[in-house]
Amino acid sequence: MDIHEYQAKELLKKFGVNVPRGGIAYSPEQAVYRAQELSGDKCVVKAQIHSGARGKAGGVRVCSSDDEIADAAGWMLGRKLVTHQTGPQGKLVNRLYVEEATDIAQELYLGFVMDRTEERVVVVASAQGGMEIEDISANEPDSIIRSVVDPAVGMQAFQAREIAFSLGLDAALIPQAVKAITGCYRAMDELDATMVEVNPMVVTGSGEIVALDAKLSFDENALFRRPEISELRDKSQEDPRETYANDRGLNYIGLEGKIGCIVNGAGLAMATLDMIKMAGGEPANFLDVGGGASPERVLMSFKAVLNDPNVEAILVNIFAGINRCDWIAEGVVRAVEELNLKMPLVVRLSGTNVEEGQKILNESGLNITTAATLAEAAEKVVAQWKTAEAKEMEIA
Ligand code: GDP
Ligand code: MN
Repeated sequence: MDIHEYQAKELLKKFGVNVPRGGIAYSPEQAVYRAQELSGDKCVVKAQIHSGARGKAGGVRVCSSDDEIADAAGWMLGRKLVTHQTGPQGKLVNRLYVEEATDIAQELYLGFVMDRTEERVVVVASAQGGMEIEDISANEPDSIIRSVVDPAVGMQAFQAREIAFSLGLDAALIPQAVKAITGCYRAMDELDATMVEVNPMVVTGSGEIVALDAKLSFDENALFRRPEISELRDKSQEDPRETYANDRGLNYIGLEGKIGCIVNGAGLAMATLDMIKMAGGEPANFLDVGGGASPERVLMSFKAVLNDPNVEAILVNIFAGINRCDWIAEGVVRAVEELNLKMPLVVRLSGTNVEEGQKILNESGLNITTAATLAEAAEKVVAQWKTAEAKEMEIA
């Protein structure tokens, strides 16, 4: 789960990380008022969306007058800001953060991520901050510092000092840098975050280290024990298809194509996406129904897949071990009947109780195509989808 920049800053501040002062605004008038509460003759108006790279998209504006603030706020609010992280549909701006402006002398990059090979948190830092980490690794790969944290002792001051020195920071800045680095690590550890990114962490003209931007992502499986984090969720920033499915306990990821998929097992689900592509189609989603899926759960999966208005055909692919093909088939039949499904539907069942499953599908009298292998299923669903689409075109 992601949160907004201002929420991330508030959390990091509690762990001793220095952040600029600021306030939230929902209207241009409020933005002006927030700026007046801050000292200084300049402020920054920042669109609060779950995305980085807002600056390049016009979502971060340094302002020096009330008019400029109102202007920037008016432009941002209600806009679907498109950054290279949001996809073409963009993300709706309905909150702004108005901050005191910072006098930047140097921009650093500081990130904390899980390294799955090391099975540890690794700190990634660079003296070439401001640009995205992907660009740093492409343009300035030698500037990247990596430091693995031993979970038994956590981030120690000496290790933070080493990172700070490797960044080439002035000796006078080291204590502040140590405070920032250890603070970020503690936030990650104590809040069950999966990522902390401060880009840029800046050195100001007056020799202060300040987190100018902040991104925190959280482990959703740990939210039950972090109600104060769970509360920071902003559904307006999420893919509505994913919100719908995930709220119902389904493992679903929205994609851009037109062929909906219902599969058991994450590995098989990924293989299914590949097979659809190889057959010349584009999958609309990833969906793993899990083990021991009841007919109700299968019905729910159909609802989640059909919640995407782009879906024009459905492929069900089950390799039943813990699952039971008869339960799946029952769910499929119920879904077709209750949801009045008219689009092409291809079902491939294999494994436990497959004969019973096939029988239920065959005796239902419904228009369900069956397939014996994954390749056959993918080819059939793509072929049927193409035929259906050609018919649509004829009618139109
Ligand atoms: P992002 O584009 O979504 O990553 O948003 P950031 O918060 O990182 O801001 C983008 C860029 O705007 C930063 O890298 C800075 O160069 C600039 N910026 C942000 N805040 C300030 C500020 O207070 N003063 C100045 N001069 N520049 C700022
Ligand atoms: Mn940034």
